[in-house]
Amino acid sequence: MYRARVGPNRWKFLLESQACLSESLTELNPRQKLNVVRESPESVIPKLVRRWKVDVLVFEKDTDAYARGRDEEVKRLVEELRLGVEVVVCGHGRTLFDPDELVRCNGGQPTMTMSQTVKASAQIDPGDGGKKGDPRRCVPTPVGLPEPLSAEEMDLSGDPGFQHEVPERAPDFNQEHRSGKQEGHYESVAGPKNDFAVVTLEEMGIDPKLAMSPHKGGEKEALRLLKTYIDNEEYTGTFEKPKSSPADFGPQSTTLLSPHHHFGTLSVRKFWWDVQEVFGKRKKAGKQNAPPPANFPGQLLFRDMYFGAQAALGYAFAQTRGNKIARFIPWHLQSNHSDTPVGEHLLDGTYNVDDEQAEVYFRRWKEGRTGFPWIDALMRQLKYEGWIHHLGRHSVACFLTRGGCYVSWERGAEVFEEWLVDHETACNVGNWMWLSCTAFFSQFSRMYSPVAFGKKWDPEGHLIRNYVPELKNFDSKYIYEPHKAPIADQKRWGCQIVGDGTEKGTEDLAKYPKPMFDFNEKRQFCLDKMKEAYDAHMYGNDERVMNGEWKKMFNYVDGKTTMDETGGLLSGTKKRMRTLDDHEYDDGEHADVGDQIDEEPPRKAAKSSGTAKGSKGAQTKLDGMVTRSTKS
Ligand SMILES: Cc1cc2nc3c(=O)[nH]c(=O)nc-3n(C[C@H](O)[C@H](O)[C@H](O)COP(=O)(O)OP(=O)(O)OC[C@H]3O[C@@H](n4cnc5c(N)ncnc54)[C@H](O)[C@@H]3O)c2cc1C
Repeated sequence: MYRARVGPNRWKFLLESQACLSESLTELNPRQKLNVVRESPESVIPKLVRRWKVDVLVFEKDTDAYARGRDEEVKRLVEELRLGVEVVVCGHGRTLFDPDELVRCNGGQPTMTMSQTVKASAQIDPGDGGKKGDPRRCVPTPVGLPEPLSAEEMDLSGDPGFQHEVPERAPDFNQEHRSGKQEGHYESVAGPKNDFAVVTLEEMGIDPKLAMSPHKGGEKEALRLLKTYIDNEEYTGTFEKPKSSPADFGPQSTTLLSPHHHFGTLSVRKFWWDVQEVFGKRKKAGKQNAPPPANFPGQLLFRDMYFGAQAALGYAFAQTRGNKIARFIPWHLQSNHSDTPVGEHLLDGTYNVDDEQAEVYFRRWKEGRTGFPWIDALMRQLKYEGWIHHLGRHSVACFLTRGGCYVSWERGAEVFEEWLVDHETACNVGNWMWLSCTAFFSQFSRMYSPVAFGKKWDPEGHLIRNYVPELKNFDSKYIYEPHKAPIADQKRWGCQIVGDGTEKGTEDLAKYPKPMFDFNEKRQFCLDKMKEAYDAHMYGNDERVMNGEWKKMFNYVDGKTTMDETGGLLSGTKKRMRTLDDHEYDDGEHADVGDQIDEEPPRKAAKSSGTAKGSKGAQTKLDGMVTRSTKS
């Protein structure tokens, strides 16, 4: 509610999913429904166990770092009650394979490549009679439910021993979305009507008008969507991710099942097995199926790969500091950290503004006013609808980090965390590390052009016209670079290209910004900085990263300003510059191929500040693997 970044669209998706679950429970037994309690699990579950005389406590295994801590604590507190409660932790539900098992079968190491993930999963027995390497089959849907407790037994209001603990509001990472008063959310543990109902956006102080995403939560919607793909055997059998267009919308070119996988409204294992059935039918009919990893099963394995990496690394996975797989790159706008009770230095939700210009780039990126219409269209689609295509995510993530702004990937991951309806820490963080060439992928000379890449998919600029309506009348010749249009044409097409995107236009003449920088110059700057960082061959757990020595090595000067990602200024800044050449444009064709080498980061923190011999070698090898590139 307060400490995880969640924008209105994801709240809406969650609440719709809960409402749908409640409906399904009622369909199984008219007296049943989903009962929502409004308190933290650690404090409320032990109290409910006692009050409701619970004899079996069942929950699903979750390998997210915070969830492991939460579940351990709940288990401990319930056992401490000595009431003989049986605690049953169900196996993994969110992934194909148990992430801990993947790690165990990968020699205790995080899964960093598809080949490692496939090899590790091939050793896992599903335990349901299936063969090793197959994900477990889904359990059948229940056909009925037992009777619930009576209303009197459920009622907590008349129990003087039941102290409702309201969580601390500050810091509230979602403050900017709360336009209204929080009416009744935490008033009582059972909600304002004392009926354990699903929470509403209004109760959380969020104006429902802000939740404008067309993507709807709930199992019924997920199953409806899945059926459309499974019924379309040609689509499912031939789907290859890098061949799907990032510019398609209403409908998009991929499944948009990711938020359902996140919220559990569609099991990834059901998706996997339904797809296998289609593959089987097509094979029998002599039809060719798309190969992994670009096909659907391959996409799901990518997801498991990130879960495996996260499961091995815990909290450190979600940040560079202390993270043995994250290459250290001295980005602008580095995160601040604080000590935690678990003895780690974790992100504290704020960052240091070492460079005012980088801060401006970051804000303009987030707000979709960079002056690069392809980037702005995607960022606005993300903000308003909560979902963008994978290659769209590639474009904007590369642009913010190693392909333009040279801003820390952690800033971008935070914005995605806030706005994505499918936000999944393992996938979000993993993919941001991939795109920024921090981990999983190292071909930093391959960059996405904010102009040519979009043009390749959508020469007429339909995506731009839809999400950047100021430009809707521009001739296709200028739709990706409207600042190049003659002034008279700009006026004729109803939009002047001027300023930084904060100026309001008139009804007759809108305003859209000029590009916030010369992309060619920035590409050079980023390449230079990436080479310098790779040559230093440091990872997040390097002593020099941990003790701050890196700042001297890279001539990095902390700024005096501390910001939080929502734009809040927390305290009372400075900058620098540089250049070089040697790049290729990425056309997304190899988007999910990855390094395919099992590169191991140093197990121990390196001491001496040598050059990046290992990584240079790897980079040369990898560049040799790139088959298509366009030198500019
Ligand atoms: C910077 C960045 C951040 C991302 N953040 C997230 C995130 O928070 N949550 C998330 O689920 N995905 C994330 N992804 C991965 C991917 O973009 C989305 O899973 C995908 O676009 C979802 O759309 P879809 O359901 O139509 O995918 P489809 O192409 O239809 O794929 C089917 C399913 O496979 C899984 N999948 C596909 N690609 C990936 C991938 N690269 N990594 C992990 N799982 C994948 C998803 O569960 C998806 O629903 C991110 C990618 C990037 C580049």
